[in-house]
Amino acid sequence: MDYQSILNIIQREFQPEPNLGKVAAYIPELSKVDPMKFGMYLYCHDDSAFEFGDSQEKFSIQSISKVFTLTIAKEVMGDELWKRVDVEPSGTPFNSLTELEREHGIPRNPFINAGSIVIADSLLSVLEDPKNDLLKFVRKLCDDDNINYDESVARSERKHGYRNKALVNYMKALGNIKNDTEDILDFYFHQCSIAMTCGQLARAFMLFANEGKHFRTGEIVIAPQSVKRINSIMQTCGFYDEAGEFSYRVGLPGKSGVGGGIVAVHPKRYSVAVWSPMLNPKGNSALGMKALEELTTLTGLSIF
Ligand code: GLU
Repeated sequence: MDYQSILNIIQREFQPEPNLGKVAAYIPELSKVDPMKFGMYLYCHDDSAFEFGDSQEKFSIQSISKVFTLTIAKEVMGDELWKRVDVEPSGTPFNSLTELEREHGIPRNPFINAGSIVIADSLLSVLEDPKNDLLKFVRKLCDDDNINYDESVARSERKHGYRNKALVNYMKALGNIKNDTEDILDFYFHQCSIAMTCGQLARAFMLFANEGKHFRTGEIVIAPQSVKRINSIMQTCGFYDEAGEFSYRVGLPGKSGVGGGIVAVHPKRYSVAVWSPMLNPKGNSALGMKALEELTTLTGLSIF
């Protein structure tokens, strides 16, 4: 498969234009990003890599971090975890409060904010040094120590994250939060602030395209069972209330973030990350969705 030619076609066909969408502004620090950025990086099972554009520039991974925290929580807590968070698609926006009351404080899935806040709470209970442990895990996955929290993004979200504050407090009132709410939010805002490039993300997500093995060393980091489960949740819940649309158009498990990044995996073949900060009304990268749809169309490869 000539992936580089396919990526070149995508780069030529899809140019960033100001009317494609809007950069996330509810976290003021995120609104400073150049909306015209566009990069893509595809890492293959055989160690080859293909890229274009701003694929080596760091951006805020935001909700993509929820896959990393879920992976650690699943490893440490196993199925205990599912007592506090479900695995059903939500069909509501990522920061919605509406279902929580009806569903007694049990979030629909680990990729909406409420679910990831519960995961953050459970990690606070079991990890010695959660912020450090998370960074170490992500650095190890992509074999790259040059990955850090962006303190200005974390601070900006801490200052303006009213809905997340509401979510954690509401779940605390309903008994599904154990730790101090400020500590949980501090961890959650930091996990979302991690800055990574498309190249780093694609390498980290090889875990989910490579049966749980580290892309470089072959070490088994998580069991293939866990990969099956996490990929399934990405497939059904990775794109908020647009998960069905992404699944229909792209046909791969993936996860997006409001920083404009999307990562998707084709198990046993490749992992791919794309970044374009202009978001569609559902909060997913408008150009990123188009680029990935074109990738799976032009390769003609499908998991189905
Ligand atoms: N930090 C963001 C929030 O909680 C993450 C949202 C996202 O990327 O979907 O609002």
